[in-house]
Amino acid sequence: MNYDENNIFAKILKGEIPCKKIYEDDFVLSFHDIYPAKKIHALIIPKGKYIDLDDFSINASSEEMVGLFKGINIVAKKLGISTEVGRGYRALTNISNDGGQEVPHLHFHLFGGEKVGKMVE
Ligand code: 5GP
Repeated sequence: MNYDENNIFAKILKGEIPCKKIYEDDFVLSFHDIYPAKKIHALIIPKGKYIDLDDFSINASSEEMVGLFKGINIVAKKLGISTEVGRGYRALTNISNDGGQEVPHLHFHLFGGEKVGKMVE
């Protein structure tokens, strides 16, 4: 499968669609999910064109990998849910069909601000 240049997160990255931005640096962009499933529901995406975590694991540079994982912590801290400043959260990424991925640009969901609940329904 090729990367779809017109997926919704590609458009957000290009500034063609607005988002409620939380954080941005050279490697990641983070913004609030449009349909929050918990009190806090943030998304964090790499700036590189990666379809999902498998694509990222195979093709991203070490710098991009560090950037994404550091970014998750930075965003969680900003939202007050990281373990340094808060009560924790769930980081989750859906991968392809069986994973239930809807938007084909790698993204981690960060859920928090309350008990997140059952792991899988
Ligand atoms: P997935 O099912 O691919 O893991 O998650 C996609 C997420 O993107 C969903 O939680 C959905 O609510 C969110 N989403 C879809 N379109 C938009 C949008 O235009 N803006 C924002 N901020 N979130 C979106």
